[in-house]
Amino acid sequence: MREEIFVTRASLPPMEEYIEKIRPLWESRWLTNMGDLHQEFEERLRQYLRVDGLSLMVNGHMSLEMALSAMKLPRGGEIITTPFTFISTIHAILRNGLVPVFCDVKLSDLTMDEEKIEALVTERTAAILPVHVYGNVCGVERIQQLADKYNLPVIYDAAHAFGVTHQGRGIGSFGDVSVFSFHATKVFHSIEGGAVAFHNPDLYRTLYNLKNFGIRSEEVVAEVGANAKMNEFCAAMGLCNLDHIGEEREKRKRVAEKYQELLADCPGIRMVRGREDATRNYAYFPILIEEDFGCTRDQVYDALGRQGIHGRKYFYPLASDQACFRNKYHDVELPTARYASDRILVLPLYGELELGDVERIAGILMEQRGKGARE
Ligand SMILES: *Cc1c(COP(=O)(O)O)cnc(C)c1O
Repeated sequence: MREEIFVTRASLPPMEEYIEKIRPLWESRWLTNMGDLHQEFEERLRQYLRVDGLSLMVNGHMSLEMALSAMKLPRGGEIITTPFTFISTIHAILRNGLVPVFCDVKLSDLTMDEEKIEALVTERTAAILPVHVYGNVCGVERIQQLADKYNLPVIYDAAHAFGVTHQGRGIGSFGDVSVFSFHATKVFHSIEGGAVAFHNPDLYRTLYNLKNFGIRSEEVVAEVGANAKMNEFCAAMGLCNLDHIGEEREKRKRVAEKYQELLADCPGIRMVRGREDATRNYAYFPILIEEDFGCTRDQVYDALGRQGIHGRKYFYPLASDQACFRNKYHDVELPTARYASDRILVLPLYGELELGDVERIAGILMEQRGKGARE
């Protein structure tokens, strides 16, 4: 039996490098609470991501929650966001006492359709929260124009976009704040981890307090906070992985280019690619299985699964259709998001995936062409 192939596989540094990184902890016993490794990782990330300010967090979800909380948005305010995202984005909005308003996406790259935002702005709109889904850069220029026109903050969920640059700028430098995830399944990880990037220097203190129970000093708690601190073991993993991110990206690039070569001209397979003027991080390889393929996405997904290859229907169902949200928030027509959600398939992609396996996966996929009618 061949080894199963999952949509991703966490990269790990050589074990000795990690052990060297954590060795000093047996001496210091400073295991969490903004230790040396935390500080070092925070500063190195700030430089690597080319952002003005950065606050490390325990994970991507809490980064979103802390970012929204730090913006001090009015309770009950509406947040214009995308249904084509991981559920975390929407949970973070609701857990801050805010209300999601879903905006449709563009078929080309599945990011929020910036031309559909304005129609959703009301006097209750408190912010815009787009997602650079698959690392595809949103229409940041138009979104900023609208934000300026209506005086709205922009919070980007950049969980998929680690290391992406656009016009020479770090992706996290667009909008007011951007949130990253360093979960083990992401292109860059610290086991669990996340960060909030920002421009306003005051946010460093605000976020520091929010992630540390609102504690100001030994005897003073000045506000309500949470515990969203990254521990030293995670910071150590992040530092080690940061030393190897260049290699990981090169390896992923080879895999992605192989898929591209094998699948690009196939009728019924639509590539979901980001804008040409942004760099790519090869975090995911999403395709749409359209009618011309002669077989549905689910049939392709099942055929791969029978061979031990596990793609992901990422994102199906739409976040707005999940049981906890369905029919609760503004009913906006989302034809493109729905179309994409029914046809999306994310193929396995990670640095260690062998090109022979990529050929096998593409082969199984192509064998399904035209089979739909016969099943
Ligand atoms: C992974 C992810 C998150 C949450 O990050 P965690 O580190 O897993 O908490 C949020 N938004 C998107 C789009 C994600 O993919």
